[in-house]
Amino acid sequence: MLKSLEYVSLIKPYVPGKPIEELERELGLKDCIKLASNENPLGPSPKALAALKNLLNNPDKVSRYPDGGGYYLKEALCKKFSKVVNISQEEIILGNGSNELLDIAVRTFMQKGDEAVFSSHSFVVYPLAVQSVGGVAREIPHTNYKHNLSEMAKAITDKTKIVFIANPNNPTGTSNNKEEFESFMEKVPDGVLVILDEAYYEYVQDPNYPDSLKYLNEGKDVLILRTFSKAYGLAGLRIGYGISKKEILIEMNKIREPFNTNTLAQIASIHALEDDEHVQKTIKNNELGKKFLYEQLSQLGISYVPTEANFIYIPLEFDSNLLFNELLKMGVIIRPVGPKAVRVTIGLPEENERFIESLKVVLEKIK
Ligand SMILES: *Cc1c(COP(=O)(O)O)cnc(C)c1O
Repeated sequence: MLKSLEYVSLIKPYVPGKPIEELERELGLKDCIKLASNENPLGPSPKALAALKNLLNNPDKVSRYPDGGGYYLKEALCKKFSKVVNISQEEIILGNGSNELLDIAVRTFMQKGDEAVFSSHSFVVYPLAVQSVGGVAREIPHTNYKHNLSEMAKAITDKTKIVFIANPNNPTGTSNNKEEFESFMEKVPDGVLVILDEAYYEYVQDPNYPDSLKYLNEGKDVLILRTFSKAYGLAGLRIGYGISKKEILIEMNKIREPFNTNTLAQIASIHALEDDEHVQKTIKNNELGKKFLYEQLSQLGISYVPTEANFIYIPLEFDSNLLFNELLKMGVIIRPVGPKAVRVTIGLPEENERFIESLKVVLEKIK
């Protein structure tokens, strides 16, 4: 019988947030809402949408291969960053979502038996990526739902190749501040890649949030990951990017698929980048929703973890699947994370209200 590699057979598959269509099909419901995958409830920038429509008038854009190097998107990114720091195209890599770049980094720098360090209660893709090459995951317990960066630094050994830091973290929404990060970076030895996963960068409000680009300027081995899937509302197109040293990206590009990002995604993200107004609207909606949900949860006596992102982590005193399934029946999709917590994406005002009203019904029911 054909057998997969042992370390592949041991992987627990990723469970995606339930798509709206699937729930509606299964339960015969209509008007379901999804607060499960941290997508932008306002959708993409209207400018990006207009560019997509326009692009479809040119069939060549569909029949021809995309620009594998993504010249114009990289140019747009360089221009955007030039307000704060000069970055060249060679310091940018595009990915089919930043998720792909996590995988490429692992395949570029780790082999069987090598170690990677990350926090417990962090992004579920890290252990998957590490296990896919037979790497060993060193998962360091979080403190108060935050990465314990000093313990993570201590966990680095001669075998460690990569440290993953999601900042803000998914699923907890917490972030590590400048001081914590500074002292962590001082302890990271040569030969270790620090992946700074900043998927929720645009949402951060903490003035003490670390400036990751500074470490790049200092010549440190960091890979900063950002994405168009979250605040930019382009999750369905799959596009994200990494910023790093030229030498690191030369190696990663060797194993990147030549046409990993498609034409539609490249064009849409160029226009999304130019639409600051849409991003500002998105952040404003998020701040309002956050305030509303904080107040409502407090009134219900439910504790939550304050967030720097567009979702809220809610530790529960009962089974998370019970809440998840009860809410599903009411057409509200959230995300259970582990046996005793859920993660809820901050949505439109009416979606947040619907979540709270449904939550009240469930709490009453299971009392
Ligand atoms: C959503 C997310 C990503 C990646 O999303 P892509 O759609 O692949 O760009 C990466 N890291 C974290 C922590 C995320 O939550």
